[in-house]
Amino acid sequence: MGDAECIFCRIVAGELPSTQLTSDDRVVVFMDINPVSHGHCLVVTKEHWPTVYDITDEDGAAAMAAARRVALAIRDGLKPDGLNLHQSNGAVAGQVVPHFHVHLIPRWEGDDTGIRWRSHPGEPGRIAEAADQIRGALEPDRGATRN
Ligand code: AMP
Ligand code: ZN
Repeated sequence: MGDAECIFCRIVAGELPSTQLTSDDRVVVFMDINPVSHGHCLVVTKEHWPTVYDITDEDGAAAMAAARRVALAIRDGLKPDGLNLHQSNGAVAGQVVPHFHVHLIPRWEGDDTGIRWRSHPGEPGRIAEAADQIRGALEPDRGATRN
């Protein structure tokens, strides 16, 4: 089910152009028009799932399988020094297009992508507290349902 307002739904429907790499029943892979690096591309679900919270396990698995297949092609075709897989959920996390997608961003020594977050040694009590809060919310069957 597509969203008429959604740019990725319109690409999936063929209403907007894209430089496509491959597709299957569940996902399409095309080049990003504002590449962070040479070869930057996107794995996009055909269904309009806004975020990782919404996708089905099947679409999530298909997206990761396609990401790995294209990652191998990037490795062999472009020969980068490294590769980031990146996926954002929510505006505060940097998501601009609210339709689930995974970025594949080839990396080169000394590139200027700026993809590097700041981290600091954690306070053990706070780490354990976060783990308790997450564990408390884990449900055994949650992976098999969508919410
Ligand atoms: P995000 O910030 O994770 O939502 O990423 C959205 C990405 O979609 C950005 O990297 C954009 O450059 C890319 N993008 C937006 N419109 C298009 C388009 N028409 N074709 C290809 N990539 C697009
Ligand atoms: Zn969409």
